[in-house]
Amino acid sequence: MSVASAVEQEGTASMTEKPYRTQVAVAYGDGIGPEIMGAVLDILRSAGADLDVTPVEIGESVYRRGVTSGIEPSAWQAMRRAGVFLKAPVTTPQGGGYKSVNVTIRKTLGLFANVRPAVAYHPFVRTMHPGMDVVVIRENEEDLYAGIEHRQTDQVYQCLKLITRPGCERIVRYAFDYARAHGRKKVTCFSKDNIMKFTDGLFHKVFDEIGAEYPDLERGHMIVDIGAARLAARPGDFDVVVTPNLYGDIVSDIAAEVAGSVGLAGSANIGETLAMFEAIHGSAPDIAGRDIANPSGLLLGAVMMLVHMGQAQAASLVHNALLRTLEDGVHTPDIAAGGRGVGTGKFAEAVMARLGRQPRTLKPVSYDSPDRPAQAGVPRQRKAVKTIVGVDVFLHWSDGDVSQLASRLQQAQTETLALSMITNRGVKVWPNGYPETFCTDHWRCRFLAAKEIPHEEILRLLLRLSSAKLDFIKIENLCTFDGEPGFSLGQGQ
Ligand code: NAD
Repeated sequence: MSVASAVEQEGTASMTEKPYRTQVAVAYGDGIGPEIMGAVLDILRSAGADLDVTPVEIGESVYRRGVTSGIEPSAWQAMRRAGVFLKAPVTTPQGGGYKSVNVTIRKTLGLFANVRPAVAYHPFVRTMHPGMDVVVIRENEEDLYAGIEHRQTDQVYQCLKLITRPGCERIVRYAFDYARAHGRKKVTCFSKDNIMKFTDGLFHKVFDEIGAEYPDLERGHMIVDIGAARLAARPGDFDVVVTPNLYGDIVSDIAAEVAGSVGLAGSANIGETLAMFEAIHGSAPDIAGRDIANPSGLLLGAVMMLVHMGQAQAASLVHNALLRTLEDGVHTPDIAAGGRGVGTGKFAEAVMARLGRQPRTLKPVSYDSPDRPAQAGVPRQRKAVKTIVGVDVFLHWSDGDVSQLASRLQQAQTETLALSMITNRGVKVWPNGYPETFCTDHWRCRFLAAKEIPHEEILRLLLRLSSAKLDFIKIENLCTFDGEPGFSLGQGQ
């Protein structure tokens, strides 16, 4: 396997300075975390990796002390000081109030690119697709993972999906740079822009704009549902896939599973200055403490880390020893035929015993020191001319049918802002709605002005709605940007 197609790995891009790092913050995690991290560190050290380890405590024990983020300030300091973070999986406690450590770390430390290779190890590990070799690059900070959720009415809950132009530009450029730097030929974008024309539409548009700067790379776009199905059925059609956060989370697990096992996949989370490496699987509490967990996913995450740290020789030694171990039929129970196999400790010993050996059938890897990720900072955008032309007022209301609501709203409207439409769950129900449309207690009421209005006009309307005892729960200003509407039309128009 060439460096390029080799898993593989890491997401560095343009040719600049060669890094050499030794400092790494290490979290042993929960569940199977301590077992697999112990095994991985033993293997790395045996391979001569030069590691100056600072252990950090995150996860269950910290949650239990009442820290809802699962991370103490001292852990943040250690991660930021080291710049490189190797993390075993962490359990997110069930129930409200607890934030996912993983999502918090990725967003707080600006780790915008999640690189997840999915590779088949045929014929040594059972796989649906023997030649599979795909890298999913997932946007890591935005989308529904902003975690902004509200209960708005008796019946309706909302999660905000935020997609930003700088976020799209960073991840899309990263994916194209990654493909070029790793000798890959094609980048495919997955989105759902047939439905979400503004958010996913922006992602697709930026993909087309930036992709045009890479004429040496083939590019394609698929709606995420058919894209995910094709990836599972015909992964040979794909090379690098770039996609927003939620789709990327799902699609990369599908890719790992059809390649062989989620237990075999590593992942890199890359930011402008910091990076975190991990397995893609969770803390597997069902098998914790039994010495049967597969450390390969975390080990491949650690290989990506060594490449990132400029320790290419140790990375190659470890990766080739792992491939040889798999070839020699030394497998943990999750991938062993008949579910037998060796335990975590024995598997690690087998890898260590093969350090210096190459695989015979699988392609050996040979890493070079990478170049420090030369991520352009957050791109700057020209400010558009923004004009307020109306407002969507969302109401909690269940006192009658929509024509009654419309007449109350028309009584309350101002001379400037007139009611133009009411939708329920995005479907237009007034004027000219259909009685078959199911309605909840959550109404979007659109008021439009004939010309630009100041904020005060919206406040005037809200005061009148309040006097009319109409329970508004939120508003969205309707704006044009350089004359283009910045809002979707209701379905059914
Ligand atoms: P999981 O990945 O922990 O386990 C799913 C299944 O895969 C289980 O049957 C498990 O035994 C098996 N499995 C996972 N890793 C394995 C390995 N290395 N070797 C052998 N078998 C393995 O997913 P889950 O059960 O949905 O989640 C458990 C906990 O992990 C939850 O608290 C979740 O929030 C957390 N989680 C953490 C991360 C992370 O830290 N990056 C990622 C996903 C889930």
